[in-house]
Amino acid sequence: MQAVDASARSGRISVRRKLLRDPQAVITIVILAVMLLLGILATVIAPHGPNQSDLHLVNAPVGTPGYPLGGDESGRDIFSRLLYSIQTAAIAGMIGTGVALVVGVTAGLIGGYFGRVTQASTEWIFSLIMTFPGLLLLIILMPVTGGDYRATMLIFGVLLAPGIYRIVRNLVLGVKNELYVDAARVAGLGNLRILGRHVLFVVRGPIIIAAAFLVGSTIAVQSGLAFLGVGSLEVPSFGAMIASGFRNLYIAPTQFLWPSLTLGLITASLVLLGNSLRDALEGAKPKPSKIGAGQRVAADEIENRDRGARSLLDIRDLVIAYPRPDGQLNEVVRGVSLTVPRGKVMGLVGESGSGKSQTAFATLGVLPNEAVIVRGSILFDGEELVGRTDAQMRPLRGTSIAYIPQEPMSNLDPSFTVGAQLVEGVRAALGTSKKEAKDRVLALLKRVGINDPARTFGSYPHQISGGMAQRVLIAGAVASRPKLLIADEPTTALDVTVQAEILDLLRDLQSELNMAVLLVTHNFGVVADVCDQIAVMQKGEIVEQGETQAIFETPQHRYTKMLLSSILDEDTVRTDPPAPVTKLGGVV
Ligand code: ADP
Ligand code: MG
Repeated sequence: MQAVDASARSGRISVRRKLLRDPQAVITIVILAVMLLLGILATVIAPHGPNQSDLHLVNAPVGTPGYPLGGDESGRDIFSRLLYSIQTAAIAGMIGTGVALVVGVTAGLIGGYFGRVTQASTEWIFSLIMTFPGLLLLIILMPVTGGDYRATMLIFGVLLAPGIYRIVRNLVLGVKNELYVDAARVAGLGNLRILGRHVLFVVRGPIIIAAAFLVGSTIAVQSGLAFLGVGSLEVPSFGAMIASGFRNLYIAPTQFLWPSLTLGLITASLVLLGNSLRDALEGAKPKPSKIGAGQRVAADEIENRDRGARSLLDIRDLVIAYPRPDGQLNEVVRGVSLTVPRGKVMGLVGESGSGKSQTAFATLGVLPNEAVIVRGSILFDGEELVGRTDAQMRPLRGTSIAYIPQEPMSNLDPSFTVGAQLVEGVRAALGTSKKEAKDRVLALLKRVGINDPARTFGSYPHQISGGMAQRVLIAGAVASRPKLLIADEPTTALDVTVQAEILDLLRDLQSELNMAVLLVTHNFGVVADVCDQIAVMQKGEIVEQGETQAIFETPQHRYTKMLLSSILDEDTVRTDPPAPVTKLGGVV
């Protein structure tokens, strides 16, 4: 508990402490600092000019007195050129990243804060920029930049800006919406000032992380262009040195080694540092719901553990919104709280458009980019999922949390065999050998009721039926023995007879593997068949939640009663085909 308290109270200081405790961060920071220093001091420490050539030194070997790394094809000192290349890379990285940050952050703040026209136009401009073929553009614009790499990096910075813009704009939208209420209460402080303070706090982490990756990619692109010979030949650069080294590979094999190693060391350090920063900053980042309420965090963290012990999935007060063209947020999930106990099947029912899929997507971490989680918490096995990046979600998806989609066919790649896709999935999730994965897939196909597993294994998606495709996807989903299976309308696209079989299969697998299942459906009949508990959703809110039997016997909410009576109404059953009413009779 003490540890929880300490980490909850952590702020700026603990980020630094976390970084210093992470060997990966310390090593990469040291490497990058040394490189930066070498780059800054290149003019002072380099024994020779970068383009100063001496005919006696053409391809001089390593260790030639005064030329520790030897000479290149034009008799220039490789060591000096290396130092100047570091300088070039540092300048390129700073210009590209600086421009991307200035343009992206400014536009993100403006686009997120001001309404209507401003947002629509920034959005339009940045979408347009994103369609530009970046590298090609940089090459085509050579006449404009005059081959000056600094001008090229300036343009590249603009091309990188949309990524930053998106991050900032989404954060601003989320914070702004939340602060409208608070800001009104806080007398004397202007909206803009509060917003600025909060936004800067929220935006800081993601921007620092993004910057590390941006510097890496700017340097890589600058070197790539120089390697291709784009730009002035006078400028010393890793790319130019590597190209020259390649030309002399047979005469002086070490020449290309030095610039490659240095470039590799710098970019690898930047990427690894970016990852460390992400761990440090995002670990300590306050959750969106906790902004401005730091003192509440400690108590909440403790509560999280309790909640995690009670249910596998615990969604609380989740609000998901999409920015409207006028800049306002349109809330499509409005304060959903939902728990799925371990090993139980929870049915999420509601009419189309009520926010069921959005809730499921948020849990899987696959909401579209423009979606904003305004507030709320999603605890999976005691761990908070809200605020996680895609990279942090990926280890969970397909292993601990599996997913079965509504449209089985569109989730299989038509150009690969069923078997190849399943084997790939199993290997990604479990890291087994190809042979083991194949055996496992064949066994799974048999288990999900496919008569001739070998034949289905070798079939292409268009060669199998929809029901078969759904069985295949179920096999893929349960391969890793997930703790939670999220099935979003898994039977809606199938024939009525096949639907019942698939539901039976799901129920069997659920008890066999003791999985928790979140079954999303608009069909109350399906729920009656397989669910232990039900949550009823309407217009983004949960209106009723409880044991299936209790809800069927004594529905409380008007909407639930309406849904219930509609499935018992013969006419509705006929117009809305999927409804295995058989078992329902027993329940009601
Ligand atoms: P359902 O309960 O049928 O699964 P969804 O969760 O898919 O409903 O959708 C809930 C609401 O969210 C709908 O009104 C839909 O219009 C809206 N919505 C879904 N995706 C987007 C999006 N990318 N942009 C804006 N609104 C969206
Ligand atoms: Mg849906």
